[in-house]
Amino acid sequence: MDNSDQKQNRYETISIESKVREGVFHQVIKDMDTGKAISCSCKCWSKGNKPCYGMKTIGYN
Ligand SMILES: [Zn+2]
Repeated sequence: MDNSDQKQNRYETISIESKVREGVFHQVIKDMDTGKAISCSCKCWSKGNKPCYGMKTIGYN
């Protein structure tokens, strides 16, 4: 049950403010192993499966 701590350490959530909508933040999940973004909370990613501004800022494969 304590393994959840280890898993959390492998990912980091980074908030990046949207360029087009002030006050709106991308909650980008970054994989610490690769240093690349793997997911985001916004519609671009969650609905369109397209890497968004936030993900591109961090880096995306
Ligand atoms: Zn996003």
